[in-house]
Amino acid sequence: MKLAVIAHDGKKADMVFFLNKHYEFLHQANVDLIATGTTGLHAQNAGLKVQRVLSGPKGGDAQIAAQVAEGKIQAVFFFRDPLDKHPHEPDINMLMRICDVHHVPLATNPATAEMMLKELVREQR
Ligand code: PGA
Repeated sequence: MKLAVIAHDGKKADMVFFLNKHYEFLHQANVDLIATGTTGLHAQNAGLKVQRVLSGPKGGDAQIAAQVAEGKIQAVFFFRDPLDKHPHEPDINMLMRICDVHHVPLATNPATAEMMLKELVREQR
């Protein structure tokens, strides 16, 4: 199973907390992680193996959206910061649209992410 993790700057601390909390599940051999550049760096610093694409504003969200469209990603954890402006807003909307088009689970905040992860853990059993 391949999971994507992305966090806007104002939400990176939340993402690091989430990754550390679920380290055991995310560290398994059958879970592959893909992340936008800076988020991926944080995940690597947390000790996780992660494929990093470009930083979000440089096209990373679009790269991840392309893989969602191709059926290569099974769930997206995208901690958005609704209180900040983003130069790559069109890419953000595109990624969320592509998830909806292809019925790929998308968590845009930690509360939803926790529920989604519980289900992924359950499905793995
Ligand atoms: P980043 O990109 O992980 O490279 O910071 C995230 C984003 O802003 O979409």
